[in-house]
Amino acid sequence: MLVREIRVGNAIFGGPEIVMIAGPCSVENEKMVMSTAETVIRCGAKMLRGGSWKPRTSPYSFQGLGVEALKILRKAGNEFSIPVVTEVMSAEQIGIASEYVDMLQVGARNMHNFTLLSEIGRSGMPVLLKRGFMATVEEWLLAAEYILKEGNESVVLCERGIRTFETWTRSTLDISAVPLARNSLGLPVIVDPCHAAGRRDLILPLSLAALGAGADGLMIEVHPDPDKALSDGGQSLSLEEFEKYSKHIGAAPHSPCRLKEKNRR
Ligand code: PEP
Ligand code: MN
Repeated sequence: MLVREIRVGNAIFGGPEIVMIAGPCSVENEKMVMSTAETVIRCGAKMLRGGSWKPRTSPYSFQGLGVEALKILRKAGNEFSIPVVTEVMSAEQIGIASEYVDMLQVGARNMHNFTLLSEIGRSGMPVLLKRGFMATVEEWLLAAEYILKEGNESVVLCERGIRTFETWTRSTLDISAVPLARNSLGLPVIVDPCHAAGRRDLILPLSLAALGAGADGLMIEVHPDPDKALSDGGQSLSLEEFEKYSKHIGAAPHSPCRLKEKNRR
């Protein structure tokens, strides 16, 4: 199936280029967002990410800066002329988030929040729909259909790992899901190896596997000082590490799956 192109600012998912989305797990302050943005964009990222409201396992963990984070993301987006994406956890957050960001993310924990999916569908905003860590590929695609059904066709899927019996990684990256999902709905699929692995040493190998399987993009967590990060530091690359990482990604061969498709156009 021919994957449709979805444009968010200058980022084109499903086109000939791999879309790199990078940035911190959480927006912590303006300075760290700006320094991260400067590095990742210089290294080829096409979109900046950052969590404004964080779906934390513990209610005592950092919950995100909320609207203050949205303002910081918008400022970085304007300064570097790059689209920005943040996660919304409830339908009430859609309106305010849409005033500041270019794409809304539905996180793994909210993939089954059908009210949220329908509301996002009605908002018409581009959506990054992550796979729930307990969701089958079919359930994930049906979640996407909740958004499509409302007339919103700007949906990008994100495989971020599923829960298995394996304990050495946070989740297990389901590589099969990439071609399965791409070939089912014709929506672009990107891969988030950071939340899948939960450890930074696996980010490069899992990214290369994702590209080999035909992923249309990658989402990577980057932090100026990962050891001091307020969330997900262990799976974040430092600015220096991201520079090295992006060179490997830039040199990686394009998947024959994607090439074959593009040649058919
Ligand atoms: C995130 O992208 O920061 C995040 C919370 O991801 P997930 O919903 O995949 O756990
Ligand atoms: Mn995170």
